[in-house]
Amino acid sequence: MAYVGRFAPSPTGPLHAGSLLTAVASFLHARQADGEWLVRIEDIDPPREVPGAADEILRALEALDLTWDRSVLYQRQRLDVYADAVRRLVDQGLAFACRCSRSTIRAQTAEPGARVGYPGTCRELGLPADDAAVRMRVDAPWDSFEDGLQGRYDAPRSAGYEDYVIRRRDGLPAYHLAVVIDDAFQGVTTIVRGHDLLECVPAQRHLQAALGLPHPRYYHVPVLVGPTGQKLSKQTGARAIDTRDPSREAFAALERLGATPPAELEGARPAELWAWAIEHWDIERLRGVAAIPIGD
Ligand code: GLU
Repeated sequence: MAYVGRFAPSPTGPLHAGSLLTAVASFLHARQADGEWLVRIEDIDPPREVPGAADEILRALEALDLTWDRSVLYQRQRLDVYADAVRRLVDQGLAFACRCSRSTIRAQTAEPGARVGYPGTCRELGLPADDAAVRMRVDAPWDSFEDGLQGRYDAPRSAGYEDYVIRRRDGLPAYHLAVVIDDAFQGVTTIVRGHDLLECVPAQRHLQAALGLPHPRYYHVPVLVGPTGQKLSKQTGARAIDTRDPSREAFAALERLGATPPAELEGARPAELWAWAIEHWDIERLRGVAAIPIGD
């Protein structure tokens, strides 16, 4: 099967060293396999989004010669598709409407002997799905799965195999739903993304099965962490990629991925660095690594 990979940023801020690392790893892995590499903007969470961030991310990818195939897919344009899937899952009895607030759930799960995670309060109530959250019904422990880099993953029991949300109370699709629908829609075969999303795979595989979608192959690459061990993100003050010096940014990303180009390529255009890196890419160097600390 032809390889299709993707980079799927949420436009919550500009591209920074952490998100660049994921972009580069997924890009190199796809290009080495002679595959396609797609970019999808996951703009389904307006309260967290920053105006202009999607364009800023795309311009930074362009400045770094990270050239994508096809046109960029914007999730905001596909709300009807997600809504149809929710309707179908509810009609099939695989999902149900839920009116519980976070605080009710917290109170219920604090009781001794309570089920871990969502306690199942609205499961059998048959509530109308309009203006309520919608959850998937999960009746069995999560399946374990084999990550291409992190090996066998079993969800910790404390995570619960809970009835997870697929549509939020405000009507917007939840990340799990949009991501599995669009990976299948775009024919994505291989997902290379940050280690912080490893714990999302059991729910996503569960949802793929419920929707009759294929399971892609997963590789969870290490995330960059700051001096306190926290994942680098806009919230932890990560600075935007310096698009005036794309060569240095590209070189640094490759070094962090354990693919340091030879010294004579220092200062070369990113496209030249990628050409070298595609030839020398060995994802195995990242096997079992969850985090890469960075100094600044
Ligand atoms: N949009 C998600 C993020 O920016 C990534 C989704 C994914 O790669 O599955 O964290």
